[in-house]
Amino acid sequence: MNQLDLKGKHGIVTGGARGIGFAIATRLLHSGASVCLWDRDAEALKDASQKLSTLGTVTTQTVDLTDPAAVSAAAAATKQQLGSIELLVNNAGIAGANAKLWEYTPEQWLAVVNTNLNAVFYVCRAVVPIMLEKHYGRIVNIASIAGKEGNPAASHYSAAKAGVIGLTKSLGKELAKEGILVNCITPAVIQTDILKQVSQFHIDYMLSKIPMGRFGKVDEAAAMVAWLCSDDCSFSTGSVFDLSGGRATY
Ligand code: NDP
Repeated sequence: MNQLDLKGKHGIVTGGARGIGFAIATRLLHSGASVCLWDRDAEALKDASQKLSTLGTVTTQTVDLTDPAAVSAAAAATKQQLGSIELLVNNAGIAGANAKLWEYTPEQWLAVVNTNLNAVFYVCRAVVPIMLEKHYGRIVNIASIAGKEGNPAASHYSAAKAGVIGLTKSLGKELAKEGILVNCITPAVIQTDILKQVSQFHIDYMLSKIPMGRFGKVDEAAAMVAWLCSDDCSFSTGSVFDLSGGRATY
């Protein structure tokens, strides 16, 4: 595996205890970055940080990303732990249950929008001022192909991920002259624990839409994110990068 050079960079990966976030943290560490894993499950975080400890400096913050005060405290604590923050990967997310839009309760809708969209706002709000101190940063948001196409039986998730795409485009423009690049990726379905939240019918639907006829891999997401975190990515901001085995058509 060819590694990008991220030596001397310090990064946050939200939802880093498992799945795509864990793969991203692994890849950033292999490239020389120090990483703080943010997640809400302290035990899972401890387990993940132990597994990664041989690769470099790994710290953790147990935080519920839907709590803006807790997010601000975690950002300050991470800066204290790592010294600075140059990289931010907004990866944490939930799928929520599958249903038609009119069948969701407001609570089900809000849970998905709070975690997948509002939390990205809370984290950027807390971390961007830290990046602005040095006029340097790379922010990568994990959106979804659902945000571009709108998956049936997942309107809350699709709407939240479309919101992440819009947030990325706005923030990218706001920071374009500050040395801070903001991009998002839009993966198609990847086999992780998140799929336990959805029906087999929904998984089959998502897979059937992929021309390559297979699931994406966590390492494929991590490779794209690592590049977006690197200095090799220098003229792309406010952009949407596909990772969909050919599903995305725009
Ligand atoms: P996982 O469920 O494997 O991992 C997500 C992690 O985020 C979990 O550790 C989860 O904790 C954590 N998390 C969720 N909510 C919060 C919260 N409020 N505060 C702190 N941590 C939280 O999912 P994936 O790795 O598959 O997904 C990562 C991202 O990729 C998500 O944004 C997802 O929407 C996106 N994505 C995933 C695709 C897929 O097919 N897998 C396709 C396209 C996009 P806990 O386990 O306690 O819930």
